[in-house]
Amino acid sequence: MAVPRFKTSKARTRRRQSINMKLSSPTLIECSTCGNRVLLHHVCPKCGFYRGKQVIVPESKV
Ligand SMILES: [Zn+2]
Repeated sequence: MAVPRFKTSKARTRRRQSINMKLSSPTLIECSTCGNRVLLHHVCPKCGFYRGKQVIVPESKV
């Protein structure tokens, strides 16, 4: 069986592992009601609509 000749250094190990450690940016969609940029699967904070229905009262109107 093949045996590695050198011990893999911490730097080399971590450099390899860091490839999959990137944080993915949150998915933003445009609100269908007001066109505001909203997180996917989240209520729009500007108009309070989610899936075409008023779910919450927006903070600016209160
Ligand atoms: Zn909206």
